[in-house]
Amino acid sequence: STADHRVPAVAGSALRVPLVNGDSIGYANLDHGASAPCLSSVQKAVDELLPWYASVHRGAGFASQVCTRVYEGAREVLREFVGARRTDSVIFTRNTTDALNLLAKALPRGTSVVVFDTEHHAALLPWTGPRVRRIAAPATPAEAVTALDAALAECPEGPRLAVITGASNVTGELWPVAELARVARRRGARTVLDAAQLAPHRPVRITELDVDYVAISGHKLYAPFGAGALVGRADWLNAAEPYLAGGGATRQVHERAVSWTSGAERHEAGSPNTVGVHALAKACEELSANWSDVVAHEEALLRRLRAGLREVPGLRELCLFEADHERVGVVSFTVDGQDPGLLAAALSAEHGIGVRDGLFCAHLATRGLLSRAGSDSGRAVRVSIGLGTTTEHVDRLVRALRKLVAEGPDWRYEQVDGRWTP
Ligand code: PMP
Repeated sequence: STADHRVPAVAGSALRVPLVNGDSIGYANLDHGASAPCLSSVQKAVDELLPWYASVHRGAGFASQVCTRVYEGAREVLREFVGARRTDSVIFTRNTTDALNLLAKALPRGTSVVVFDTEHHAALLPWTGPRVRRIAAPATPAEAVTALDAALAECPEGPRLAVITGASNVTGELWPVAELARVARRRGARTVLDAAQLAPHRPVRITELDVDYVAISGHKLYAPFGAGALVGRADWLNAAEPYLAGGGATRQVHERAVSWTSGAERHEAGSPNTVGVHALAKACEELSANWSDVVAHEEALLRRLRAGLREVPGLRELCLFEADHERVGVVSFTVDGQDPGLLAAALSAEHGIGVRDGLFCAHLATRGLLSRAGSDSGRAVRVSIGLGTTTEHVDRLVRALRKLVAEGPDWRYEQVDGRWTP
């Protein structure tokens, strides 16, 4: 952590990784936006639960009772973490993608959906059919609000849903969630917030933002084991066909008739991911207890990172809004004359730095951003920071980029299966 802020420790902060020259080095994981490292306290909580691992909702034995209590307790932690209404459903899913697909399947017949082109594919693609309307990338937050208002005004009568992102996974920029939710409400639309990138970095409060649904992923929230959640209004969810058909979601099964439970279990058929859910809840508690330090830590590192990147010749940062618009610790960029894939490969092989390159599962958004930045790279490099990041990682990245841009890589690389390899 930075000297001034005490933030929850991550497991693996002492990891060393091999370099192409045969040395090893402390791993600089600058890819928190893809998956964040697990918190040490989460690792401990998982360790403590594993000996008790048993079926949930199904067994009479003591270990089953323990696991059921852990699982149901986690629902309440999640409810608190996203500031949900008392009546909201908290449904455990595999991740954000799963949560948004669940909601898409649960929409009442004839629901109009309005979604920005700039969404991550998880929020862009689950909605299909003639009543889906796409909004082109706005140039300002105010334009986003006006564009959503106009698109909703043109929707036919009937239920409406507006899809909103909390923070972009390409630029980290925050979207004006409360304002978007307000115009949606005025137009009689519900809102779903893709909080995959926002929730690890800022408190999300459903009641304050006045959104209807929130989707999150545990693996971006410092918890492993494939758990996520959809939290939101129960009525559509209780009226919908179960997301999965199977054990746990049924009330009665007869030869010719099945009646399904209402409530979260309706969409959670099959043995659930107790360990993942426990890990997710533990991570949520840790973040909730440390928000001010978490935010301050990341803001200090982000300032340092962006100042450093400005010193790299030919570097173009991708921005949808103004450069000083508020963002979480995600920065994507290209460097004139440099192949983004080669830069990412050399950062890993020669400097022990993990970043991501490509279009970040947001092809429309990233292509649009590249063209706005005047870049012809076709792809970008993404650096994303979080609780596992130190000033040394940031400084190492900036130094490495400056060296790579000035001198080129120390090793020769060739493309193997589409990846640059030394
Ligand atoms: N939305 C955003 C903004 C994301 O960054 C991601 C993950 N990259 C997702 C949705 C999908 O999350 P998951 O892969 O965990 O389903």
